[in-house]
Amino acid sequence: MKKNVAGMREQIDELDRELLKVVAERIALVRKIGDAKGSDGPVRDAEREQAVVDRWAGSGSEHGLAAALTTRLLREVITHSRCVQQIDRHAAPSYLQWARRIGYQGDSGAYSELAIRMRTGQTDVETFGYRSFAAVFEALASGAIDCAMVPIENTIVGSVEEVTTLLISTPVVILDEELVHIQHCLASTPGATLDGIRTVMSHPVALQQCLETFVAMGIEPEPYFDTAGAAAEVAVRGDRSIAALCSAEAAEYHGLEIVARNIEDDARNFTRFLLLGAADDARIRRDSAEPRPYVAKTSLVVTLANRSGALARCLQVLASKGLNLTRIDSRPRPPWEYLFVVDFDGHAQEVRVEAALNELRAEVEELRVIGSYPNRTSFAEPGEAVPDAVVTVSPSVESVTKNDSRLVLLGDRKRTIVHVGDVAIGGDRFVLIAGPCAVESRVQIRDAAQMAQRAGARMLRGGAFKPRTSPYSFQGLGLEGTDLLAEAGREAGLPVVTEVLDVRHLQLVAERADMIQVGARNMQNFELLKELGRIDMPVLLKRGMSATLEELLDAAEYILAGGNERVVLCERGIRTFERATRSTLDIAAIPFLKARTHLPVIADPSHAAGRRDLVIPLALAAVAAGADALIVEVHPRPDEALSDREQALGPGGLDSLAVQLRALLLAQGRPM
Ligand code: PEP
Ligand code: MN
Repeated sequence: MKKNVAGMREQIDELDRELLKVVAERIALVRKIGDAKGSDGPVRDAEREQAVVDRWAGSGSEHGLAAALTTRLLREVITHSRCVQQIDRHAAPSYLQWARRIGYQGDSGAYSELAIRMRTGQTDVETFGYRSFAAVFEALASGAIDCAMVPIENTIVGSVEEVTTLLISTPVVILDEELVHIQHCLASTPGATLDGIRTVMSHPVALQQCLETFVAMGIEPEPYFDTAGAAAEVAVRGDRSIAALCSAEAAEYHGLEIVARNIEDDARNFTRFLLLGAADDARIRRDSAEPRPYVAKTSLVVTLANRSGALARCLQVLASKGLNLTRIDSRPRPPWEYLFVVDFDGHAQEVRVEAALNELRAEVEELRVIGSYPNRTSFAEPGEAVPDAVVTVSPSVESVTKNDSRLVLLGDRKRTIVHVGDVAIGGDRFVLIAGPCAVESRVQIRDAAQMAQRAGARMLRGGAFKPRTSPYSFQGLGLEGTDLLAEAGREAGLPVVTEVLDVRHLQLVAERADMIQVGARNMQNFELLKELGRIDMPVLLKRGMSATLEELLDAAEYILAGGNERVVLCERGIRTFERATRSTLDIAAIPFLKARTHLPVIADPSHAAGRRDLVIPLALAAVAAGADALIVEVHPRPDEALSDREQALGPGGLDSLAVQLRALLLAQGRPM
């Protein structure tokens, strides 16, 4: 009875494998159809889909299968196929257009050849097996092949030394990578049984992955140049005591019978392959101005002088840009230097990667980018499109929990100083930012600028696009207000900060202002945050009035993750049950944010207080708590202010604030 069940289970496993194979073949065909459709026209042909589903349901019932099952099964496959076509259309790597001859090390059915098939999914790709890795690299250099697929590392045996060495010393470009789940078979001449196997031939790396199993079975490993080549050799020898350790495909190709499956010591046996092109191949597109709907990875070879701290400085550059290091490997080069192959998440043309590369060049003797390519080992579904701005970053502080997303911010790195014109926020010197809630007229903003400048303020604020709670309140002068603000700032010699409410206005405002403010009501306007991540402009990010500090950090992370590190956090009061003040200034937020992040932290006592008489005490409390700067609303004629009149300090109030601030800062040993 038991034996019977086991037998049937084996049959089921076999059927499942068949099913998988068929689904994979179907998807490969869908891909081809997608290519044939080209990039115009709809991906979906609803009529055809319906016809296919109907036909399938019909044939299903002939086999006694319920339509509910069959239609659902096929619908899943069709939906996925449609995604595949859509993704291919946007994400098809450009090498697919010209790579027709791809070389690999080994014989037909080798895992590298499987990797080629998996990666290209195209049947019109011709594969060429070479005896050695060196021969593959030579073929690539001579133009005999368009690309090469080579294994770079394996989860059980580690790095493939020979390939790493060739990668370092040959002018190649990495175009893509592929991850293959290695499942070895023992295959021998038809009629052989597992008990009768005495010797197993295979590539040494493959043999190493099954050593424990071989010892247990009393089988002697015999190194051969390749897994599939071993299958060919076993077929030639025709000896039932000799088996090859190879893929099921190689066994089948060479007419062998499989006597055991999945015999690797650890089932999690994966090999990562690299698809390489020749560095001087003009067909390789290096400009990546086009959108990249995938998570990218970049590989570098750097030569470090044999000096203390050289590697640490190099890694620090990557860490400081929030770039997640995914691999590092090294080789000595006589007389005595070290070459390092470094992989990290990000594309060489992302702003922060570019910045990191520039900094690295100053630190190292030599630097070569071997390529930026899709990261197929990230946790995204294989082939799944991932937005460009997605970055994976790793924690550098132990206290960071695994699912903490704000790892860029939390990195233990030196404090960020945000420069706005010639003003540095977050440095030793305290900064006072002052100006009206809203720009109302040329005269008003000019007077406000003069008043701020005289009181010792070093930046001018002024809203042009105003987020007013009521649609009937003054909405601001818009772009014209931004022009007036910039003009007044220029005259007074003060850089200006103003709020942007909408992504549509960002470019226009960015051309006029020195710093962009994200208001409390917009702290979770994620599209705006993402856009701010892409521009090279300092951002003043205000805490939402109902936002937790965690949420504020997540909002900041959006901007940093996009590549813009010039972010200043602002505590401006939160909504509590208290009605005596407009908001409740969360003083604890200031030291908390300073401890948890490397970003400058400032306070806005005006919007927290909502009333003039409380602005100065709150301002002083925030500075006592360590705020790097204050942003305060002032007006040359507060009683005439068109918005937030009740909280605006007049010239006298501002002077009084300045005097008290100086005394406090003196006590703290901070210049103003
Ligand atoms: C402002 O600074 O003008 C403003 C509207 O502030 P908040 O977004 O903090 O309310
Ligand atoms: Mn205001």
